[in-house]
Amino acid sequence: MTIEIQKICEAEFLLENMREVLRRTAPDHRFSEEERKEFDKNIKKLDKIVEEMKKDKYTGSNLKYITDKIELRRREEDFINIDPIQSGGRLTLEARKAMIAYGDGYSTCDYCFKPFRLDQIQKPPIHEFVEDLAEFVGMDTARVVRGARNGFQIVSNALLEKGDVALVSSLAHYSLCLAIESVGGIWREIPLNKDRIITGENTRKKIEEVREKTGKLPKLVAVSHFDYMFANEHDVHGIGKTCKEYKIPFLYNGAYTVGVMPVDGKKIGADFVVGSGHKSMASPAPTGILATTDEYTDKIFATTKLEGDLTGRKFGVKETYLLGCTVMGAPLIAMMASFPKVRERVKHWDEELEKARFFISEFTKINGNKVVSEMPRKHTLTKVDTTDSFDKIAKKHKRRGYFLTDELKKRKITGLFPGTTREFKLNTYGLNWNQIRYLADAFKEIAEKYKINVD
Ligand SMILES: *Cc1c(COP(=O)(O)O)cnc(C)c1O
Repeated sequence: MTIEIQKICEAEFLLENMREVLRRTAPDHRFSEEERKEFDKNIKKLDKIVEEMKKDKYTGSNLKYITDKIELRRREEDFINIDPIQSGGRLTLEARKAMIAYGDGYSTCDYCFKPFRLDQIQKPPIHEFVEDLAEFVGMDTARVVRGARNGFQIVSNALLEKGDVALVSSLAHYSLCLAIESVGGIWREIPLNKDRIITGENTRKKIEEVREKTGKLPKLVAVSHFDYMFANEHDVHGIGKTCKEYKIPFLYNGAYTVGVMPVDGKKIGADFVVGSGHKSMASPAPTGILATTDEYTDKIFATTKLEGDLTGRKFGVKETYLLGCTVMGAPLIAMMASFPKVRERVKHWDEELEKARFFISEFTKINGNKVVSEMPRKHTLTKVDTTDSFDKIAKKHKRRGYFLTDELKKRKITGLFPGTTREFKLNTYGLNWNQIRYLADAFKEIAEKYKINVD
């Protein structure tokens, strides 16, 4: 199989070589003799590959690098990838095509006219996309930002003054904490309950604690619906309600939800919904979304107010905290190209859960395997514990924990942190039933090979 993807890459690159000649000879494409030769040489090579494809019989390929030191990336073709952070960001076919077509620098800006703002561009239909995004997460307005973290940063910038307190989960992602710190804010952690869940009640207690200590209410509460450590579901509805009572704005962090499951921000009681394109919306990095309600639109998407003291220059309707335009190239167009499928796929989240639960039920038939995340699983990301199974083997194996990595690699499975056999995370999102069964069988096979009992 491996050779096929290599040949496809070779063929794609040959086509790009030809495209290069067209660029060099624009606009009339009148080729010199040299250029004609070069063009034809590529056709010939391409023809040879096509012939091999037709016969399904390949000569070798030594294509390994795109260019000096940059290897081809074939992880999604050669392997089943269960990397915790990569599953939801795998590109759709349409997104991959968009990357080829819109790769040039500011490629979104061909038809940028007054008022010169990315989210207002009609062709390609960025404006429409941004409106669809707001509706998609049940909010009034949205913008594409440079990853979820940029969404946190924009909200922090707009809402926090130096020394203001913002509450985060005890399982908060580092980038949220850094966003708060970067604007001089102080982050304080809401404790987990015994089930490792953030609730409205915990949030209320922490709000009161901050009020007692500082005499002021926190200026922001930001909690992820599913955390990145265990992918436990946190009580965002309860937190939303508590925040409403105190009139504290609530940021719903949907890095692990927006784009894989349905999200209705207003129903949750969120003032801001943040999502990650490259984590959960089948998009390239760096992409994300920030959505809000009419109430906060003018505040977080505030436009520039100052003017030049010498020139009197003003920058119109550029949005200050966004630094004007955000993702102005291929990643945005690819995100748009994926969107129809993303909008459809969230409706099938229950099937993804069914597959994840099936895998976990098979995985835990291996004696000693445990699940650290809450059960039953409500997300495709799960933290498991194999201290009493694979780690026992690792202790005696000459490759230590890498034995598991090796065994999985042999079976064309990748994405686990190399060398770990105690606790690790895996994500089955997007695998089909065949792949799920293959994955479960692979783990069971490895267990049996090392004489671990399997029920
Ligand atoms: C991945 C993740 C982020 C960061 O997302 P980016 O889009 O890479 O900025 C933030 N919060 C949580 C909970 C995450 O899992």
